[in-house]
Amino acid sequence: MQLLKQKVLDEGIVLSNRVLKVDSFLNHQMDPVLMKEVGREFTRRFAGEAVNRVLTIESSGIAPGIMTALELEVPMIFARKQKSLTLRDDIFVEKVYSFTKQETNEITVAKKFIQPGDRVLIIDDFLANGEAAFGLARIVEQAGATVAGIGIVIEKAFQPGGRLLKEAGYRVESLVRVAALDDGKVTFADQD
Ligand code: 5GP
Repeated sequence: MQLLKQKVLDEGIVLSNRVLKVDSFLNHQMDPVLMKEVGREFTRRFAGEAVNRVLTIESSGIAPGIMTALELEVPMIFARKQKSLTLRDDIFVEKVYSFTKQETNEITVAKKFIQPGDRVLIIDDFLANGEAAFGLARIVEQAGATVAGIGIVIEKAFQPGGRLLKEAGYRVESLVRVAALDDGKVTFADQD
C-alpha cells in the first residue's frame, strides 16, 4: 500500500533495529484519512471471506479495526489487556507476551460478543513475533468461531510472526512489510 509506505518513510522513527515508532499516525496521534484507506484495503483483500466480526486488541488496533469494520458494516470488538484476573466464566481469557512492553498480559473478550459460527477478521497495527495475533486467534477458536483472516498494518518481516501464523494455516495480509530497520533506515520487503 503505497500511501502507507510513504507515511512510514516520512514519519516513522527507527528506535532500534527491531522497533519502529509511528506515533504521528497510528500509535498516538492517528490519521483518520489514512485509517480510512487502511479499512478499505483490508475490506478489499478479505472481500470473499464472509467476515461478520472484526476483532482487535487495545489500544493501537482500534483505529484500523474500526475503520475496517465500518467498511465491512460489521461490529468490531477489542480485546482488553489486564494484568491479572479473578476467575470469571463470562469472558474468554488468553495470555499474551508483549514484544514492546516485555511483560505478559491477560487479554479478555466477553463471551457474548463472539458466537460459534462467526467468521472473525483479526486486525492489528504491528506484527512482530505473532503473540498478539495468536492470542486473538485462540480466543476466536475458544468461542467455536473461525478466523477468517489476519490483517496487519505493518509487519516486521524480519521477525517470525508472519511465517508462524501462515504455517499455522491462517491467511495473513500485511499492508506493508518491513524487511529491516538497520542504520536508522526502513527497508521494505516488497516492491508494490
Ligand atoms: P507480536 O505480538 O506480534 O510479537 O507484536 C505485535 C504487538 O506488539 C502489536 O500489537 C504492537 O502493539 C506491538 N509492536 C510490536 N512491534 C512493534 C514496533 O516495532 N512498533 C510498535 N509501535 N509496536 C510494536
